[in-house]
Amino acid sequence: MEIVVCKFGGSSVATNEELEQIVAIIRKDTRRRCIVLSAPGKASGHTVKITDLLIDASKKALANQPFAPVVDMIKNRFHSIYEPLNLSADAIDTVLSDLDARFSTPRDHTEKFRDCIVSAGEDLNCRLFALYLASLGFSCRYVNPKEAGMLVTPVYGDAQPLPDCALGMAGLKQICAETIVIFPGFFGYTTDGDIATFSRGGSDLTGSLLAEALDASEYENWTDVNGIFSAHPGIVDNPEQIPALTYKEMRELSYMGFNVLHEEAVKPVMRKKIPIRLRNTNNILNTGTLIVSERLPSERDVIGVASNGGFCSFTLQKFLMNREKGFGRRLLEIFEELGLSYEHCPSGVDNISVILDQDQLKSEVVNSIIRSIEEQLQPDEIKSEFGISLVSVVGEGLVHKIGFLTKAATALSNAQVNIKMVNQGSSEMSIIFGIDASDEKKAVRALYDAFFS
Ligand code: ASP
Repeated sequence: MEIVVCKFGGSSVATNEELEQIVAIIRKDTRRRCIVLSAPGKASGHTVKITDLLIDASKKALANQPFAPVVDMIKNRFHSIYEPLNLSADAIDTVLSDLDARFSTPRDHTEKFRDCIVSAGEDLNCRLFALYLASLGFSCRYVNPKEAGMLVTPVYGDAQPLPDCALGMAGLKQICAETIVIFPGFFGYTTDGDIATFSRGGSDLTGSLLAEALDASEYENWTDVNGIFSAHPGIVDNPEQIPALTYKEMRELSYMGFNVLHEEAVKPVMRKKIPIRLRNTNNILNTGTLIVSERLPSERDVIGVASNGGFCSFTLQKFLMNREKGFGRRLLEIFEELGLSYEHCPSGVDNISVILDQDQLKSEVVNSIIRSIEEQLQPDEIKSEFGISLVSVVGEGLVHKIGFLTKAATALSNAQVNIKMVNQGSSEMSIIFGIDASDEKKAVRALYDAFFS
């Protein structure tokens, strides 16, 4: 049986109208048998997400401060969503009583307690949605991640699925064959039976793990935008929507700041080459953006232009550097020992640069880096630079294209953007330019015009 897993994000479950829209979406395609929901997000008149209210309430409870007003806000929010859908106040209260039970659990392990509370947003929403769907005559069933076997590491607030997590949930196939499954996102259970949540936005990962477990024909991820655009709409006016791109291209774009899916959500579906389709709950006619393992070569070479700021670089010059064995290793070790991760490491004949996310650095660390490099590697010169932006042109196989780099560099030069670094990498799917932060928007527009207009 063909199954499509559908995950609906916080904005898609924020009001009663949105939930009606979800029902219309389920009706349209009988393959939509596994529905993953987030907790209600922001909506007009509701400026705080349910998950943030739960975080707040758990903190207050742990600090022995009054938390009941926050719990009341959460309950009222659920009533405001589900009462207009004709669920009785009593039926809603019966489901919501679970929240009071959670606050009565032991608080000695603060992180376990926190996750038990914070996961309630997804859990209660799914229990209520299953009641609503059943009231419309659908055959459906709320399935708890424990029952399904969604096993995760005991890292509270940042759990990872255990290696065979999806394999252990294969039993869900049978349930999906019989009825529509309503499954809460964002959390799983440790092997000790405790709730542990993924990092924020983790419902995307739940959907992906279920798609893997169910051998889904597609994983639909429904949000409030039509799909992925070729450039940030805040920088380029009306950028093109990308019809299809590969998992790897998406990774390149999200690395450069495209806020598309939770980073860890790609791995499970990638293992089984299950396509992800990003879609807009409020614009069903738009077919969204498809993310696949391979795309047709006839489609665009360049799929998007992305940028990200806040990088710094340390550049060393040393005559005959290439003859010194272990130079690069020793340089990178200095960063490792200071607990810093690096992003890029472009090199020339007698020079090498290390590019890092500058948010990791404090001023005293900058001095330690320079001192260690001077002591351990004796460079002829060392230079640090801050406020670098990276602009990237992304597309599978584009580095094989003759003239591509010239086209990009010409566009930047015509726009008077000074290129400080070029990194073609070995991925063969992006070229990254290091430029001054003040040139970032200009550079994105120039590259977009060169490749898309
Ligand atoms: N509700 C959680 C959050 O706000 C998880 C999710 O929506 O994916 O991060």
